[in-house]
Amino acid sequence: MAGRETFTMNRKAKLDATRLARLVEISRALNAITNLDDLLSHIIKEAADLTQAEAASILLLDPRTHQLHFKASSNPIPPEMADLAVSLDDSIAGAILQANQPMYIQDVTREPRWNPQVGQIINFDTRQILGVPMRNVNQEPVGVLEALNKVGKPHFSVQDLETLAALADIAGVAVEKARLFTELEQANATLSELDKLKSDFIAIASHELRTPLGVIMGYVSFLREEADETMAEQFDTVLNAAVHLRGLIQDMANLSYVDAGQTALLRQMVDLSALVQEMKLASDETAAAKNQTITLHLPAHPLIVNVDRNMIEVVLNNLLNNAVKFTPQNGRIAITLEQQGGEVWFRIRDNGRGIPKDQLKRIFHRFYQVESPLVRQHGGLGLGLSIAKELVELNNGRIWAESAGENGSEFVVALPLAGEQT
Ligand code: ADP
Repeated sequence: MAGRETFTMNRKAKLDATRLARLVEISRALNAITNLDDLLSHIIKEAADLTQAEAASILLLDPRTHQLHFKASSNPIPPEMADLAVSLDDSIAGAILQANQPMYIQDVTREPRWNPQVGQIINFDTRQILGVPMRNVNQEPVGVLEALNKVGKPHFSVQDLETLAALADIAGVAVEKARLFTELEQANATLSELDKLKSDFIAIASHELRTPLGVIMGYVSFLREEADETMAEQFDTVLNAAVHLRGLIQDMANLSYVDAGQTALLRQMVDLSALVQEMKLASDETAAAKNQTITLHLPAHPLIVNVDRNMIEVVLNNLLNNAVKFTPQNGRIAITLEQQGGEVWFRIRDNGRGIPKDQLKRIFHRFYQVESPLVRQHGGLGLGLSIAKELVELNNGRIWAESAGENGSEFVVALPLAGEQT
């Protein structure tokens, strides 16, 4: 290829089988690299190898400022040149990018757009430039790949141009992917930070709310004892509201417990039958207030699991409280404990309003509630089940919901029997 010309991608030359095979190999390698700097060095090395050039370099378009920046070169880039901005209108790379076409400069000294400054700084004597645009999947230019000075022959060939253009196509997509990957990583880091701020806020808020609430409950209980019948009824209303508030604060506190994860885990041997009986006793009063019955079906022998007792208590309590909450007056709640292979299954079934089938998984997401917050009749933050799921999983168990349409819901917690843990 002689003379200075701008090729119109009139790509008649076919790539030979060896170059094609090499390009496929390179494409695979580039696809596996997600770090932009590593990717650029790899592309440069391959570009110089494939075209037998003395060196290669890459300039990338900043999508925000629409400026080209010098990003990588076969020769080490001194710090003052790192990320150097190159004018779009007054440079060879800019011309390639704007035309979105390859260009071959046979003799840079005869090219008015040639800027010798870069070569001087990196101590490289550029004679020829074979430059091609790097494009994204939409065929928009994202940068320029240049091969500098042909080795062993006077000129770059059309084959070299074809090869470099094919490499630039692969590289353009890989660069775009690496950039998106970096953006995703940064977005993820920001999200984690926000999530931590939220968790810290919830932990502090729940802690700070608990103390004054304790004082309120203490004094109201005391005043209730002293009050006459009408006043006692009013104090009961205050107490009920305070108990409700305590439940919400407890959910918030449990959330920080979950966020602490493994660090909070304190395993011990627990007889689930005994634990379930204790919990039932504690819930009987609330169920009785709605005239509900809770029945237990327990095996005669103990069922021992190696778990964090407090965590499992939170889980079973959340399920029991939900059963009471979402089952109307005179409802029935049945709790069954049974051995299933190497697991103990805790089943809690109610004959309340049930859960739509398509929401059986989503109810375990944080803050998710089946009913819209604007019309729902029950209190709650939508945290109980997500907490239950995370705590169960921390203890190597599983939890899921089943619904018999309008005939109520069933929740199952499966925990490995002690000695059966993997
Ligand atoms: P909360 O009870 O505070 O709303 P949960 O995470 O415990 O939060 O429950 C999420 C949602 O799942 C509830 O808002 C409710 O829509 C549904 N749900 C949970 N348990 C039951 C149940 N036993 N019967 C019907 N719906 C339930």
